[in-house]
Amino acid sequence: MTSGLDRETLELSLEAFRDFATEKLPDDVLLDLDERDEFPVDLVRELCGSGLGIQLLFIDEEFGGMGGGAFDVYRICEALAQVDLGIATGVLATFLGSDPIRFGGTEEQKSHWLGRIAEEGLLFAYCATEPEAGSDLGALKSTAERVEQDGEIVGYRINGSKQWISNGGYADVYTVLATAPGGPSWFIVEAGAEGLSPGQPEDKHGIRASNTAAVGFTDVVVATDRLVGGREGQGLLQAQAVFGYTRLMVAAFGLGGGWAALDRAIPYSTERVQGGSTCATQFVCPNVSRFPPPLGPTLSSTPL
Ligand SMILES: Cc1cc2nc3c(=O)[nH]c(=O)nc-3n(C[C@H](O)[C@H](O)[C@H](O)COP(=O)(O)OP(=O)(O)OC[C@H]3O[C@@H](n4cnc5c(N)ncnc54)[C@H](O)[C@@H]3O)c2cc1C
Repeated sequence: MTSGLDRETLELSLEAFRDFATEKLPDDVLLDLDERDEFPVDLVRELCGSGLGIQLLFIDEEFGGMGGGAFDVYRICEALAQVDLGIATGVLATFLGSDPIRFGGTEEQKSHWLGRIAEEGLLFAYCATEPEAGSDLGALKSTAERVEQDGEIVGYRINGSKQWISNGGYADVYTVLATAPGGPSWFIVEAGAEGLSPGQPEDKHGIRASNTAAVGFTDVVVATDRLVGGREGQGLLQAQAVFGYTRLMVAAFGLGGGWAALDRAIPYSTERVQGGSTCATQFVCPNVSRFPPPLGPTLSSTPL
């Protein structure tokens, strides 16, 4: 993580995102997506592409991004979650999915794939979980068999089933954890690869605007340059590094969702009359009139 954006650039980025959300993601659109359990892929591509370019905040300058730091990532994730946790998850999945490369990739892999996220707004999916390997990734059953030619390794043949994969049905690129002869390793697979089969979206209780799907790999062959880091057996270490980074994003989602709930509940409590007075006056809640509507500057916008 770099030292981050200057304050003005961060505020401008947040403002641009809020304008985007106000125009394209009003409540009726969000409620409709939630009801239909639909991932708004075009809007997420606009958010993470030439439309708004939010993905640039998460990518280092040397790879074509803006080099946001931890505080910038926190603020933008909080703002995303204030709009919709499902859409926020759709954005997160690209950074979860590309983190094995960011933390464990060779310089060429970083430059190629992170550069393409910055430039093209590629959507990624992170494929670790399996039907029988969730918390315990050591139990994973997916395999990556070496493909050899004249005694040289020229690629890997991946087989396995992944479960609960965010962006699983829509990603342009999948990072996949599978056991190679040298141990668990991450591989990069592009959408459309022969033998790659994204499943139907899960009908979830919450974050319904995110896409969560099973992804199957049947004899998917990739070249050796798709082995993350170029060495077998680094996968579990790389997976740990990934969780270290994205925990910040998930925590910001929790806070953003919570602030958004307060931004709605508090004004409502000043209107709702119960037993002769508003709910707000029945509880000690000073300064209630200063709370803004949902997408304005919020309680969370604390000055540094
Ligand atoms: C909406 C959604 C999106 C997701 N997106 C992705 C994604 O993009 N990529 C991906 O790879 N995965 C994804 N996942 C999967 C997620 O990472 C797993 O659900 C998680 O790793 C837990 O695995 P599991 O569901 O198999 O639960 P289990 O591992 O079976 O755990 C079930 C329960 O048992 C507890 N438990 C497990 N082991 C122990 C133990 N040793 N001791 C005590 N308690 C234990 C757990 O804390 C949990 O409460 C997603 C899941 C959801 C719901």
